Amino acid sequence: MNAHARRIAALRERMRTEGLAALVVSQGANVRYLTGYVGSNGTAVVGHEGAVLLTDSRYAVSAREQVSGAEVVIGSRDLLADIAAAARTHAGDGPVGVEADTVTLGWHERFCARAGGADVRPVRGLVEDLRIVKDAGEVATMRRAAAVADEALGAVLGAGIVGRTERQVALDLYAAMLDRGAQDISFPTIVAAGPRGARPHAVPGAEPIPAGTLVVIDMGAIVDGYCSDMTRTVATGPLPAPMEEIYRVCLDAQRAALAAARPGITGGELDAVARDAITAAGHGEHFGHGLGHGVGLEIHEAPGVRPGAERVLEAGMAITIEPGIYIEGLAGVRIEDLVILSGDGHDIISATPKELTVVA
Ligand code: ZN
Ligand code: ZN
Repeated sequence: MNAHARRIAALRERMRTEGLAALVVSQGANVRYLTGYVGSNGTAVVGHEGAVLLTDSRYAVSAREQVSGAEVVIGSRDLLADIAAAARTHAGDGPVGVEADTVTLGWHERFCARAGGADVRPVRGLVEDLRIVKDAGEVATMRRAAAVADEALGAVLGAGIVGRTERQVALDLYAAMLDRGAQDISFPTIVAAGPRGARPHAVPGAEPIPAGTLVVIDMGAIVDGYCSDMTRTVATGPLPAPMEEIYRVCLDAQRAALAAARPGITGGELDAVARDAITAAGHGEHFGHGLGHGVGLEIHEAPGVRPGAERVLEAGMAITIEPGIYIEGLAGVRIEDLVILSGDGHDIISATPKELTVVA
């Protein structure tokens, strides 16, 4: 059984638990995970006896190349009518699940109008919950995506960043990742120097990067659909003491959280390890976001790693550990690794060093 067939079989177990006779899978990453289909405008219908991937004629050739574990059906002009018909065929008179967090109210209305009185039920997270634990193939792909980002960052930092604009550096990182085999970047690269780095989601600006400050660089590559995510904060020369201090506190907190990252801990407990360390150093109010997030086919996916997250972490989950300290008017620091939980600990798959590095 290949990966797609295995995943569809696992989904059927969940559908049984939920009492579903068929599930209409509309979320792009979920469709890809179950069938291999990569294009837009693809919907999978999974029943207990079979599964189909419906798309339009633009994707006929690529869908047949990509998809396994499901029959490819090229729909008519009214693709939604074909999806509804497939759902009826697979569900009979039984309940049909639709992905409540993905479809729109308009889609739901049109689908129901075409489904001939079928018992349509909104469901949440069925496929996402399968995606949360990565198999060996997925882990290997994510390692490649992380390696692309590591190599790209090394090349761009090696060429120097002082006096160049954040935008130029972000653009160079983009090109360097594509050059090294990324199909795209996981999210818009963040390059934020000095006070701009105090905004966790800063957009790269047009001012030259000065010497003697901290620069936050948050980046990721996509390889074969899988994302990587890494943040490093570098110094552009000798730093004022407050900047050195927040770097050291952030790195200590990041290492403390890594030391605690293993199967059996909850995302909330792991968040607290880093948060307690930062709070003890007097910077609790400067760490506003969660410690991390799951990563995979999407850059942000389950499990959550933030205050109150109750999900117990398991081997095979891919999460980020990214504490940050942001001081308005001064600078920001964030240090982020991508880790795969395993056995009694984890593997860190981002390899760029974390000791404070001075870049010219
Ligand atoms: Zn990141
Ligand atoms: Zn992240």
